[in-house]
Amino acid sequence: MIDLHLHTTASDGSVPPARLVGMAAEEGFSAIGIADHDTVGGVDEALRAGRQSGVEVLPAVELTVGVEHEIHLLGYGIDHESPALKALLGQMETDRDERVAAMVRGLEEGGLPVSAAEVRARAKGVVGRPHIAAVLVKNGAARDVADAFKRYIGKNAPFYVERRKKTTAEAIAALRAAGGVPVLAHPGLLRLPRQTLWQWIDYLQKLGLQGLECYHSGHSPGDATFFRGAAAEFSLLVTGGSDFHGAAKPKVRLGSGLESWRDFEDCLSALRKRFRA
Ligand code: AMP
Ligand code: ZN
Ligand code: FE
Ligand code: FE
Repeated sequence: MIDLHLHTTASDGSVPPARLVGMAAEEGFSAIGIADHDTVGGVDEALRAGRQSGVEVLPAVELTVGVEHEIHLLGYGIDHESPALKALLGQMETDRDERVAAMVRGLEEGGLPVSAAEVRARAKGVVGRPHIAAVLVKNGAARDVADAFKRYIGKNAPFYVERRKKTTAEAIAALRAAGGVPVLAHPGLLRLPRQTLWQWIDYLQKLGLQGLECYHSGHSPGDATFFRGAAAEFSLLVTGGSDFHGAAKPKVRLGSGLESWRDFEDCLSALRKRFRA
């Protein structure tokens, strides 16, 4: 089995990269993709662990992009030291820091028990809303992380602040400059009607999109079949990943959502060919 979409402590996962590779080895995975949000901070450690344990580690990243409509773009086989990619990730980190700081300021002004220093200390890598939520929970302002999102920092909650976003075009260009293969992550979570989705895919493909994440823990087997149809129609690569976050998303295990993926070996070879080309 393979699982091409995993998060580590470099972003908002709870398992450090080397330990995650160890888990994948124990559970019999032959290849995994380390795809943290907007950072490649976990890639080196995972690559090293992969060489030791015999699990093939694909260096990857999951970029949150799109100014009006947010999408998640996976980039596989990137040179994670590419200057173009580093520049993009550096700007995204600044945008993230500013946004988290703005949310924390709002919460503090609203009298909630949270401080910027505490939030920063929670993040081993990239800082995000889950770290704010964790602090709110620890300090008794919310029952659990979901409650913190619902009451304070979720999309429609009072302390939500929008992040400055990179355009999809910029992100695809940076991934390609880094030798990566851009793939649209979990299209099922976009909840778009078929016709709109087809228009988006067409637009993204013109910018350089090369694959579709058909298998995902948030997709039903019916969704997977539907997106395989789309991938075939647009001649896009087929990928799949659980979106594992460890304890941060306890229901998602390694391989979740990938049970119906039979030809993963073929899909992986097609992907590899593209990033070696
Ligand atoms: P950020 O990138 O800072 O906007 O944080 C996004 C992350 O927060 C996502 O990757 C999710 O893991 C988590 N998240 C978003 N919405 C919720 C929610 N309603 N409950 C729990 N976690 C959430
Ligand atoms: Zn995440
Ligand atoms: Fe995502
Ligand atoms: Fe993800």
